[in-house]
Amino acid sequence: MSAEATITRGADALGAAFDFKSLVDKRHDYARAWKAKTGGKVLGWFEPYFPEEIAYAAGMLPVRILARHEVDDISDKWIYSSCYPVRDMVNQLLKGRYDYVDGLVNVEGCQWMYNAFEVMMNNRESLFYHYLFLPDYTNAATSKDVAKNEFAVLADRFKGWTGKSITDADLDAAIEVYNHNRLLLRRINELRRADRPVISGSEMMNLVLADQVMDKAEMNVILEDFIKELGLRKPGPDKIRLMIVGSETWDARLEELVEAQGANVVADELDNGTSYYWNNVLPQEDRLMALALRYLGRPHSALKDNNYRRRPQHIFELAEDFNVDGVLLEKQIYCHSHGSDMYAVWKMLRERYIPYHYFERGSLLPEDETAARLEAFLSMLKPGLNHLAGWHKKFGED
Ligand code: SF4
Repeated sequence: MSAEATITRGADALGAAFDFKSLVDKRHDYARAWKAKTGGKVLGWFEPYFPEEIAYAAGMLPVRILARHEVDDISDKWIYSSCYPVRDMVNQLLKGRYDYVDGLVNVEGCQWMYNAFEVMMNNRESLFYHYLFLPDYTNAATSKDVAKNEFAVLADRFKGWTGKSITDADLDAAIEVYNHNRLLLRRINELRRADRPVISGSEMMNLVLADQVMDKAEMNVILEDFIKELGLRKPGPDKIRLMIVGSETWDARLEELVEAQGANVVADELDNGTSYYWNNVLPQEDRLMALALRYLGRPHSALKDNNYRRRPQHIFELAEDFNVDGVLLEKQIYCHSHGSDMYAVWKMLRERYIPYHYFERGSLLPEDETAARLEAFLSMLKPGLNHLAGWHKKFGED
C-alpha cells in the first residue's frame, strides 16, 4: 500500500503537531478522515499479538481499540464482571464511537477481550470478524508453523473480504513501514536512558498510543520530525526515575501524576508501551514466517509467558538499562493474566533489591488515592535508595 500517496499529515490536518495526546483524543476524526480520503477499510484490533502488517498490506488502516471511560449503562448487560478496560471498550463500541470500523480481529489471548469480541459479533452482524489463533506457548517447537499458517488463513480471509490478493510486494512494503516505525520509536525511547531525559513519561506514552491508531507511514514522517525537535531540547532536571509494569494502560494519567510529584517515568513494560514496538521483523523469503517469528518473539506478554518465564528477566533488564529507582506495578481489577503473573515479577524485584509499589486500579485512576500512594512511595525512595544518592553504593555494588 502506498500510504504516503493517499493521506494527509494527521498532525497538520488536526492542527496538533507533536501534541500526541491530541492525536489520541481525536483518533475517531482521524480514522474517519482517512477513510473518506482513501476509501479503504478500517480494521479494529484488540490484542497485542495482532500482525498489523497483514492488514496494512491489504490496504487497510489497522487501529487499536483503546479503552476510554464514559458513563457506562450498557456493558453490565453483556459482560458482567469483566475488567474495566474491556467494559469500556464494549460501552464505546455499542454506543457507536467506532462506527467507522469495518471489521474486528481478536487474537487468542485474554478471555475478557474475547468476550468483548463476542459481544460485538452478537450485536453488529454486518462487520467483518476474524478470530486469529496464536499459540499460548509462543516458544514451543511447532508454534512458529502454527502462527504462520494462521496468518495465511487471515490473509485469505482478507482477500475474500476485500477482493484483493496480498502480494509479496505488498507484504514487503508493509513490513518496511512497520519496521521503520518501530525503529523510530526505539530511537526515541533510547533517549529516556539519559540521566536527564528530554522526553517525559507522559509524552512518550501519548506518542505510543497515537502510533497505534494512526497510519504508520504518516506517523513515521511525524516521528522523524519529532526526533529532530528532541535534538534541540535541553535536558530536563534530574529526577527520581520510575518504571511502569502491569496491565496495559490506555492513557498517560499515571505518568502525569508521577510528574506532578517531581519524578519521571523513564521506562515501561506494557503491552501498549515498549512491548508494542520492541522487536522488528527480520525479513526472509517466507514473509509470513518472518512475521510469525516477530510476533512470537516480541517481549512476552503476561498473556503468553506460560512455558518458560522470560518476562521477569526482560523487566529486570529494562530496569537496569534505564537505571530506574523504583517500579510501579499496576494491575487492572479483574485482570487475570497479570494477577497470575505478578508473583514472578515481585519475586524478581525483591531478589534484586528493586523497590516497587503494587496497586490495583480501574480504567480511571482514583486520583487522590493514587497521588497519596505515589507520595508515600517516593518518600521511601528519596532518603537514599535512588540513583541521585548513589543507591548502588548502599549495597556495596559499585
Ligand atoms: S486488563 Fe487484563 S483482563 Fe483486561 S483485557 Fe487487558 S489483559 Fe485482559
